[in-house]
Amino acid sequence: MMTDFQTLGLSAPLLRAVEAEGYTTPTPVQEQSIPPLLAGRDVLGVAQTGTGKTAAFALPVLQIMSRNRPQGRRKIRALVLSPTRELAAQIDERFSAYSEHLDIRHKVIFGGVNQNPQVRALERGLDILVATPGRLLDLINQGHIDITHVEFFVLDEADRMLDMGFIHDIKKVLKLLPKKRQNLLFSATMPSSIANLAGSFLSNAIKVDITPEEITVDRIDQKIMFLRKADKRRLLVKIIKQERVECGIVFTRTKHGANRLVKQLDQSGISAAAIHGNKSQGARTKALAGFKNGSIPILVATDIASRGIDVDGVTHVFNYDLPNEPESYVHRIGRTARAGRTGVAYGFCDDTESGYLVGIQQLIGKEIPVDSSHEFHFIGAIPKPGQKAGKVKDPNAPKKKQRQRNRSGGGGGRNGGGGRGGRNQSRSGQNSSNQGGNNRSRHHGNSRSQRRRDN
Ligand code: AMP
Repeated sequence: MMTDFQTLGLSAPLLRAVEAEGYTTPTPVQEQSIPPLLAGRDVLGVAQTGTGKTAAFALPVLQIMSRNRPQGRRKIRALVLSPTRELAAQIDERFSAYSEHLDIRHKVIFGGVNQNPQVRALERGLDILVATPGRLLDLINQGHIDITHVEFFVLDEADRMLDMGFIHDIKKVLKLLPKKRQNLLFSATMPSSIANLAGSFLSNAIKVDITPEEITVDRIDQKIMFLRKADKRRLLVKIIKQERVECGIVFTRTKHGANRLVKQLDQSGISAAAIHGNKSQGARTKALAGFKNGSIPILVATDIASRGIDVDGVTHVFNYDLPNEPESYVHRIGRTARAGRTGVAYGFCDDTESGYLVGIQQLIGKEIPVDSSHEFHFIGAIPKPGQKAGKVKDPNAPKKKQRQRNRSGGGGGRNGGGGRGGRNQSRSGQNSSNQGGNNRSRHHGNSRSQRRRDN
């Protein structure tokens, strides 16, 4: 039987919040981190964004904090350090969702914006502070922040922290924290520099390692098809009909896109159901049951929803939209060729997605064979020689946006545009804590100096 959140030991207000978010099954990092954290242990997590690691630390921290709330003025009892303002804002937004039914006050602070609203919030008193290192130290130095009552210290994306040159800031913060506290460190990778840093402040930590799923490449017949966005639907319908697909999953980037595609498939006589975060648990269970028993041949899913899909007989995976996170590609195509069977994975690449393809191919370390034997083949979607991984700049983007992007540095991703370099350049998280569930884009493109100033 699959674990549910209840068996992890979460309290009723948190279970309600998790249910409202549409989470049915804990992700591996949650399953492995939540019980030891609730038991008071330090945790060293090797996990990337997208694995559900925020809930893995936020839920137990909230639970323990709300169990024993001291009397009097609120003091900062949990400090979460994040390398970028976007990630910090996302974490804070998750705290809002998970603490919905708790008496917990939290706030995010980062550089590059006026400090006054942040100072005012600090003066009102907080339980949880999410911060980028530069602004945190700034406000500590000005006497606005006291971190001497911190019981939980979370260092998120530690590898990026070091990449961005924050090691000295982190050391300064560590010196100011009280000795007795619970520590959590998350990092996508574990080079020796991170292992050393972890060793310097974690004590007897439980190690949780969520390495990306191995691709069963041998048994998956991967194909890339270049085409215009407007032709994707017709090509999908054609393949589903030609190959008589009876058990296939189609991945779209957005929930809205999934809903629209289900309607369009229906108009073409193909029965499909959507499964994504906005669907109620009942609707998801029904869709999955129909898919499993064969009455619904096509499931249209977003990445997050795909986590719970564990169906053995999937013959086809369609990357209707190529994922902007290369790791998602691996996760998606791994839904087929399970239990020793074979499977086909089609990737539809339009001219805005060629950079995503570059990132995917860098991650998997090979070129995916191209299938151009279809009537929609479009050479404009093929990556240019030497093209960098990541989002393709839209030449038609409005002037204002372009200027904003230039200000933030532009350029390739981390590690010279490597496998993890494919994120969007959205600035939407910069001054609010209510970033939507769908907008999880993050910066990887800023130059180091710019990032340093921003934070
Ligand atoms: P994170 O890795 O923390 O950035 O989380 C990635 C995304 O997964 C966020 O949008 C979360 O809302 C979502 N998420 C976290 N845990 C779960 C879960 N157990 N089931 C479904 N979605 C989840």
